Amino acid sequence: MKIKAWEHLKTISTHKYLVMQGCFRVGLYKQGLLHDLSKYTPSEFFVGAKYYQGTRSPNNAEREDIGYSSAWLHHKGRNKHHYEYWIDYSAADIKGGMAPAPMPTKYIVEMMMDRIAACKVYKGEQYTQHSAMEYYNLGRGKAPLHEKTQAMLEFFLELLDKYGEEKTDLFIKYYVVPRCKKWDKDWKQYIKHYREKCHLPERDA
Ligand SMILES: [Zn+2]
Repeated sequence: MKIKAWEHLKTISTHKYLVMQGCFRVGLYKQGLLHDLSKYTPSEFFVGAKYYQGTRSPNNAEREDIGYSSAWLHHKGRNKHHYEYWIDYSAADIKGGMAPAPMPTKYIVEMMMDRIAACKVYKGEQYTQHSAMEYYNLGRGKAPLHEKTQAMLEFFLELLDKYGEEKTDLFIKYYVVPRCKKWDKDWKQYIKHYREKCHLPERDA
């Protein structure tokens, strides 16, 4: 248990450090510092240590053991960079009764940094600027994303895929982060405008 706790601590701290670097590069300092802090609370940390495996998420091991992941439920309920946080009851009469609310732009950026950091660790030497887009495309359409969340995440991932990390970070730092509220409101126009400027073709929903 002691060794697994140490390994788990190293894993979550390495990830947190990578996401912090990404967030700092685009000017999201507070989010960079606070990212995934709840992983250090007892409800998440000791479960993660108990089910630590090294090759995959301990949440999956906990699910196989008790049927659900208490650590994940605790995590996604407190961390706004996860789209699962934004699942709400729908006002419309729809199947299942739940629907995604739009994620604020600043959390979509943090989610992007989270994905890049995860890909870097997972792919190691084989990581490229295409990795995050490739990973996203494997599951595209399966996750319950609000159309705004999906359109913006895809736009950022395509920027990364086409232009690389340095240029994408600069774009987000100077054109997105200082105007998050405007992006939140006029996301359709912003994405359309910058897709054209950046020579990215429209994508089907
Ligand atoms: Zn998280």
